[in-house]
Amino acid sequence: MCGIIGYCGPKPMAEVLLEGLKRMEYRGYDSAGIAVRTNAELSVIKRAGKIATLREAVPPELYGDCGIGHTRWATHGGVSDSNAHPHLDDSGKVAIVHNGIIENYTVLREKLSSEGVEFSSETDSEVIAHLVARLYDGDLTVTVQNTVQLLKGTYGIAVTHLDQPGLLVGARNGSPLVLGVGEHEMFLASDVTAIVGHTKQVIYLEDGEIVTISADEYRTTDLHDRSIDKHIQIINWELEEIEKGEYRHFMEKEIFEQPDSILRAMQGRLDHEYATGHLGGLNMTKKELLDLERVKIIAAGTSYYAGLVASYLIESIARIPCTVELAAEVRYRNPIVERNSIYFAVSQSGETADTLYAMRELQRKGARVLGICNVVGASIPRESDGGVYIHSGPEIAVASTKAFTSQLTALYIFTLLIARMRHMSYEQGTEFIQALEQIPEQVAAVLGGAPKTAELARTYHKARNFLFLGRGINYPVALEGALKLKEISYIHAEGYSAAEVKHGPIALIGPETPSLFLVPDDTLREKVISNMKEVKARNGQVIAVCAEGDDEVAALADHVIRVPRVHELMYPFVMTIPLQLFAYYTALELGRDVDQPRNLAKSVTVE
Ligand code: GLU
Repeated sequence: MCGIIGYCGPKPMAEVLLEGLKRMEYRGYDSAGIAVRTNAELSVIKRAGKIATLREAVPPELYGDCGIGHTRWATHGGVSDSNAHPHLDDSGKVAIVHNGIIENYTVLREKLSSEGVEFSSETDSEVIAHLVARLYDGDLTVTVQNTVQLLKGTYGIAVTHLDQPGLLVGARNGSPLVLGVGEHEMFLASDVTAIVGHTKQVIYLEDGEIVTISADEYRTTDLHDRSIDKHIQIINWELEEIEKGEYRHFMEKEIFEQPDSILRAMQGRLDHEYATGHLGGLNMTKKELLDLERVKIIAAGTSYYAGLVASYLIESIARIPCTVELAAEVRYRNPIVERNSIYFAVSQSGETADTLYAMRELQRKGARVLGICNVVGASIPRESDGGVYIHSGPEIAVASTKAFTSQLTALYIFTLLIARMRHMSYEQGTEFIQALEQIPEQVAAVLGGAPKTAELARTYHKARNFLFLGRGINYPVALEGALKLKEISYIHAEGYSAAEVKHGPIALIGPETPSLFLVPDDTLREKVISNMKEVKARNGQVIAVCAEGDDEVAALADHVIRVPRVHELMYPFVMTIPLQLFAYYTALELGRDVDQPRNLAKSVTVE
């Protein structure tokens, strides 16, 4: 969920660790800490709160030959200095950092306590430090191998021992861990952003693998000390991509990057000659695509809403039944895998635990699962049966924006591909491609209206509740708009089908509960207008997002945001942008921590 960094090398130890933690700040965390091995001791400094607080507490002269650092997102035990990682064993010789959850920690803790171990935190993680210390036999690698065999649950860990100068051991099961290979320096990290400033050469660890590093060497093994040969991969993005540049926040930068990121998601994937889509990574033959009888999408959060948009599209133009389900629900309800069906696991990070575990369960049942992910080399793309990278570039803000529109792009192109194999004619395919290719420009035009949205945010930021209403393919866009506002402004917002309001939520309508309506120029426009009138009749404030030139809607609404007129099925792209901007500017008005909203984490690697 949060961050692990480990370093062996000559650079100033505390500085490398703190910088790595800073780079992972975007993932969301509540405390941070480091442990540095000097010749005399393991020096541990940890604090609840921000990395800036930790930094103040770290003495500038803290040098060492290896060190580990952690940003914690509390799962077991409150947010406090003592619960922050690293954790030491009783003797102070072993320090560990851990991401994930040790499910059998109660049993382990009781056993260790009965043997006289004194615990200094309430975390599940601390047992690891004591186990390592007790099992230590002079070989830290073997000790960690033996230790993790006692653990149930998920972990990415990094371990250091006072008697092992310049050496770190890492292990993973369900929480990502990557090894960075530098020139006379090595890194461990849960996220490549922590180390990309130092090296682009990385090795992704798989579950059940152990890695031992020193400044000049690394070795990867299984849990029985058998060596495993791993390939070095090269990270293909630059440091600037994870810096804010001239923007105030990553979220602002990422919203404004969308004309480019959408373009990247479609590049090389539109086949003009045959008016179809081209997705090399699906690993499916034409026959398999033609035999498809059902598409199922599993995802969580914003990715789930991208899936919902796609389900409307897939059913309407490819005429294949498509269902979307929250990944967390799929896993535990003994899902039925049907013949000639495929699943998409949609996840920006490719590490979302709910989605990853659901995918594995489906694969055990024989399902073909394809990933739609952004982070190259993450667990979902690695373990899936094929898939599509969305190529958004690193998404740093916790609230997802550009990944959403790129997920849509990938899913739209997939739909084009299977639609063309069925009912869609060459002409319709060409029209669809043309409409899709105009999106980056149209999104840029919507972004040009950002100052107007900022004004609206000034008008409405004091609202305590908000409704987001849309219909058809734009209904999930309303859900996503409500989620965005909730996530970063903490205003209570709900998304509904505009038709559903009269079945309950209308009870909330009054001058103090504004509604934002999505009113594209599509077949449901008249219906949505009626729904708007119902709200107006009850003194509700109405913001309408409508097509340029739609004066009827503008006259009905209290405030209006205009988007370009686009192909009926392309509205989700242009309608999403003002909602992202509205959430962003509202959060700014309220002085919220936009990029790291409270309680949230960027990639949710716990269930
Ligand atoms: N379960 C551990 C804790 O609560 C680790 C949480 C994390 O992944 O940051 O300390």
